[in-house]
Amino acid sequence: MDQQKLHVAIISSPGMGHLIPVLLLGNRLATHHHLHVTIIAVTTQTSSAESQLLASLTHDSTHINIIKIPLLDISNLLHPNDAVVTHLAIMLREARPGIRSAISAMTRRPDVLIADLFSTESLPIADEFQMQKYVYVPCSARFAALTTYCHVLDKEINGQYVDRSEPLMIPGLDPVRSENVPDPMLDRNNQQYNEYVRMGIDFSTLSDGILINTWTDFEGKSIKALKDNEILRSVVKVPVYDIGPLTREYDVAGSEKNKVIEWLDMQPLESVLFVSFGSGGTLSAEQTTELAWGLELSRQRFLWVIRPPAGSSTDAAFFTSGTGPDEQPEYLPEGFLTRTRNVGLVLPMWAPQMEILNHGSVGGFVSHCGLNSVFESIKGGVPMIAWPLYAEQRLNATIVTEEVMVGVRPAVLPTKKVVGRGEIEKMVRRLMEGEEGKRMRENVKVLGGKAKEALGMKGSSYNSMCEFIKCCEIMKMKCV
Ligand code: UDP
Repeated sequence: MDQQKLHVAIISSPGMGHLIPVLLLGNRLATHHHLHVTIIAVTTQTSSAESQLLASLTHDSTHINIIKIPLLDISNLLHPNDAVVTHLAIMLREARPGIRSAISAMTRRPDVLIADLFSTESLPIADEFQMQKYVYVPCSARFAALTTYCHVLDKEINGQYVDRSEPLMIPGLDPVRSENVPDPMLDRNNQQYNEYVRMGIDFSTLSDGILINTWTDFEGKSIKALKDNEILRSVVKVPVYDIGPLTREYDVAGSEKNKVIEWLDMQPLESVLFVSFGSGGTLSAEQTTELAWGLELSRQRFLWVIRPPAGSSTDAAFFTSGTGPDEQPEYLPEGFLTRTRNVGLVLPMWAPQMEILNHGSVGGFVSHCGLNSVFESIKGGVPMIAWPLYAEQRLNATIVTEEVMVGVRPAVLPTKKVVGRGEIEKMVRRLMEGEEGKRMRENVKVLGGKAKEALGMKGSSYNSMCEFIKCCEIMKMKCV
């Protein structure tokens, strides 16, 4: 190992959704900036999909080392009613001895420890080994600002945020309407809210800086506020680096890939609406039915990744053996697959999203607005129907539809009310055939180009990463 080069260790909390952004950051540091990288992956168990993904994301880099920290059985500490952020906080607390031992056992001690947003409580370990310490927030700058500022709101505001008619004001940012707050802020009496507030405090008190997976053309105002707004700075305190949008460059080939791409090859340019709700998003049976009607009534071509609605049990055959019209599950309108077979393709469970969004036939994306999907859509030049479901997706949807204007959004919140077939039909037409959709398609292509520029040599995100590395190098020199 070249002793001159920085050695960076990055902690990932359990779950593919947390591991992927950490691998992308590690890959970026290793391949574009030639640093030594060790990923410390706290993991409950490594599924074969996880192993495949790890291999695919690291195969071209000889500078990434991965250490897995298996979680001991902590089921006695977890309460079934605990929400996801509470679970993660408990898991990561219990993983700290394993993380410490892993660092201690490394032949070359890392110079820098980066914790992902759920593992900030491990940052004090860096002090024990004279390492610098950073937080990686693989979310928007708007989310990072809201999280860091939440302890101030906590003191200023009484009652539930979601009951307020006034938006939340964060210095320098666009107001955050109460219906768009992220999940951990929905219920202030839930333990996960306390964990979320604590995480935000950790960002500014336990770290030397915050890396955020965003870029200036996507949310310039929020990034500027985090860096320059005096009031916000007095809370954030540490430097902020906008280093995104880091996304996967290629997909793991799925078994459906050939069939899907062959089908897309036969469709006209930008004519297909892709419908998918991320790696785990599901709709209710009623909403699935309305969506099916909306798609059919719009008379547009579509490619729909469909999952069984929560609680449904009658469709096992459909989800294992294919999509024949005879096997249609009951929550799809009768005859839907037969009537739409010339314009639509329905795929059970999973599709090669990266390939699809980069295919010339795709002209729109109904997305749950997970940040990876948003970035992949922008890089593919595809405008969106923003259909947020959970986590911080409502915040992302506001950036997509109100800040960069590359998408439309239902008038009602899909998690609160069923979006009706009429509204879906109209939204699909607005996006796929209207003037507004045309403008958004132009906007998103420009934005996609800017994303590539930001990451290219001398681009804003590239420079920001260089600045972070420079800072670490200077600190390293001072320490020797
Ligand atoms: N994905 C995919 N095929 C699918 C569903 C999801 O390849 O059928 C990928 C997608 O390309 C993205 C990730 O899974 O990289 C989902 O991440 P995102 O942040 O959008 O949402 P999450 O699943 O974390 O809610």
